[in-house]
Amino acid sequence: MNKNLPHIVEPLLTWFDDNKRELPWRRDKEPYHVWISEIMLQQTRIEAVMGYYARFLDALPDVESLSRVDDDALMKLWEGLGYYSRARNLKKAAITIMEEYGGTFPQTYAELVKLPGIGEYTAGAIASICFDEKVPAVDGNVLRVIARIQGSKENVLLPQTKKSVTGQLKTIMPQRAGAFNEGLMELGELVCLPNGAPLCDSCPLKEHCTAYKKGLTEQLPVRVKKMKRRRADKSVFYITAADGRIAIERRPDTGLLSGMYQLPNVEGFHTEKELREILREWRIEPTDIIFTKEAKHVFTHIDWYMKAYHVTAKGQPEHFIWVTTDKLKDSYPLPTAFQKLL
Ligand code: SF4
Repeated sequence: MNKNLPHIVEPLLTWFDDNKRELPWRRDKEPYHVWISEIMLQQTRIEAVMGYYARFLDALPDVESLSRVDDDALMKLWEGLGYYSRARNLKKAAITIMEEYGGTFPQTYAELVKLPGIGEYTAGAIASICFDEKVPAVDGNVLRVIARIQGSKENVLLPQTKKSVTGQLKTIMPQRAGAFNEGLMELGELVCLPNGAPLCDSCPLKEHCTAYKKGLTEQLPVRVKKMKRRRADKSVFYITAADGRIAIERRPDTGLLSGMYQLPNVEGFHTEKELREILREWRIEPTDIIFTKEAKHVFTHIDWYMKAYHVTAKGQPEHFIWVTTDKLKDSYPLPTAFQKLL
């Protein structure tokens, strides 16, 4: 474990006691109140949640009323908050609490995390704030604070980073587990601000913070979004002229494989009739089109699925470069993706 972590507990608790904001759901440790506020806050800012929270509790003051609410009335109360599945899950969980727990709110992390719409973070928040169970509640704010304290370059968007931070926090959870978790979240919202703008001078943890000491607050936390892989289907032509030369062309100067050479190709897979039309547009009059092989090539963010066709052409239109196979091997860089088709 990082050596800084154990030292943050006391200063954080003291700071939280002196600086915590007065929020409606902090007036008591009633799990119903903490639960509703945590769910509302998942996708919405605190200022926006205030009005909704008050209205919601006026209409549905407890688990029982929530479990019996008419669906339309529930949606009306949620209207404008978005992500309506959150509201539907609230009602489902309320029904479960009525039916399986006799209307008494479950008190442990293990039970809470099984309820609809309650994930690890919310279960940790309710269990620690309301029942002082020593479990962490790790959200984006907490990940940011801990990454900076530790000077960690781990990508905070990865599940394994969250898991590792949760595991480390577990080992330092104090008796006042709820205050500790809320303190971390509050520090993240008020002091250890995102986007390279933390207010380190007024931070109670600066003496134990690697990012502060090493001037890394702008770089941390590391947030690298996983790029979605894309698939591209391609029809590739191995066009030979009567003298045995083959047609190649230069790829554009920018983008993937820029400036290299390639076999003529088009996006997508096509029927023979369509292939003939494409070739005609290139002023290639094919005698025949023979499917030769298919291959896959994996780039960093894109997978090419290629079908190759051998075409015997009558002429040699000038917009292609016509080369012998020896010349191709010696003088024209042909990416591996195309070499697979030769
Ligand atoms: S010293 Fe700065 S970077 Fe470190 S935890 Fe405090 S606010 Fe965040």
